[in-house]
Amino acid sequence: MELYQKTAAELSKMLRNKECSAVEVTKSVFDRIRQKEDTVGAYVTLTEDKALEKAGEVDQKLAAGEELSPLAGIPVGVKDNICTQGILTSCASKMLYNFVPPYNATAYDKLLKQDMVITGKCNMDEFAMGSSTETSYFKKTANPHDPSRVPGGSSGGSAAAVSAGEAIVALGSDTGGSIRQPAGFCGIVGLKPTYGSVSRYGLVAFASSLDQIGPMGKSVADTAMLYTAICGRDPMDATSAAREYPDFYQNLNSNVKGLTIGIPKEYFGEGIEPEVKQMVMDAVKLLEQNGATVKEISLPSTGYALNAYYIIASAEASSNLARYDGVKYGYRTSEYTSLEDMYLKTRSEGFGDEVKRRIMLGTFVLSSGYYDAYYKRAKLLQKQIAAEFAAAFEGCDVIATPTTPYSAFKLGENIDDPLKMYAGDICTVTVNIAGLPAMSLPCGMDSKGMPVGMQLIGPKFSEQTLFDAAFGYESLVGGFTTSAVEK
Ligand code: GLN
Repeated sequence: MELYQKTAAELSKMLRNKECSAVEVTKSVFDRIRQKEDTVGAYVTLTEDKALEKAGEVDQKLAAGEELSPLAGIPVGVKDNICTQGILTSCASKMLYNFVPPYNATAYDKLLKQDMVITGKCNMDEFAMGSSTETSYFKKTANPHDPSRVPGGSSGGSAAAVSAGEAIVALGSDTGGSIRQPAGFCGIVGLKPTYGSVSRYGLVAFASSLDQIGPMGKSVADTAMLYTAICGRDPMDATSAAREYPDFYQNLNSNVKGLTIGIPKEYFGEGIEPEVKQMVMDAVKLLEQNGATVKEISLPSTGYALNAYYIIASAEASSNLARYDGVKYGYRTSEYTSLEDMYLKTRSEGFGDEVKRRIMLGTFVLSSGYYDAYYKRAKLLQKQIAAEFAAAFEGCDVIATPTTPYSAFKLGENIDDPLKMYAGDICTVTVNIAGLPAMSLPCGMDSKGMPVGMQLIGPKFSEQTLFDAAFGYESLVGGFTTSAVEK
């Protein structure tokens, strides 16, 4: 087995037992990148020199017997909407094609403090708007299981990198499913944390009330390790929660006895492929056979969630993206006759079609005369959806659903039909609307040979319960073998 195929937990032990060095791990990952990147295209920017330098430092510290974080020396990919000082942070947009941040996002800074090795910046849908990584200005990313299919999005580069072995773990961001859906499509684990548990400082804003940075890995343990590293109160983010967090990795417990799993019938209805339903239900059954209790529940407003999500997310996006005006930083059109002409041309040329669609939709729903009809009603629905989840959690510990209605679709299949693309987010958007944590974990391969994801949703700050339930399932199936590290 090559080093790039291993999990962070395995490599961490090997580094301490001197079975390999951090430089060897990093070299293995970059050799794999050279082998795969032409077909997968997971990265916008690679940082090999910095990575090797950092790995060398870790080896020196280990040799000196320094006490290091379990993540020290582990190669990590970072989504390109997370600010990295001195490294291009483009959000996969022409608008930020030259933006090299003078500061670090808190989540990234925490990885540096843990002595992690940054492989580079991962491709994504432009400004995190999309579900296929096809709206990137730079390139499309392919699914490492089948390059004719999408890796999902918007954190498609992060998911593809981890699945292919082009990174050991990665950071993504999730506004309406962008960690969970690509994790599901690529056969890996991804967590969208409770809103407020990971600092958004330095995360380029899409929809500020929904955005969260989160971890992606090949195993539950890796995801728990990375989450433990990035969560926590940050005075730089006013929405960050003031609380203490345990070490989720050290606390992992695979016993599912006594766990009550709710199955919301609305997530298993029309539009969800029968094979996907079956695979998720089989996974739930396995948990039941090992001591979990399963009960049917109802979340009646699920059918309105997509409408509410696309209104709220677009409204916030239209406001957040107003800052890209060609004046302060980023792209500026080359020829213009007046200030207004400069704004107009800069924004027309700098943003792609999907981003423009969201800005127009968001501006429309916030405009006087339409605000009450759309935005206000979406906010009321948001309350309703959150209340229905809260009521459901009085009777169960976690809720299990498919992550997506279907496995990875073909490149080009949905890109010209935005509504069809949006419809695929039906299972994930409710979680962001309600501010809850949820993770996607692999529950096998379908008849197309593509991975299928199961989503586990919990009450706010129940990450340990989610990790434990997922770890229980992973242990029962004898570990996940759905990534593409062996392809
Ligand atoms: N696919 C959803 C959208 O396009 C979610 C994106 C995300 O979570 N960043 O808005």
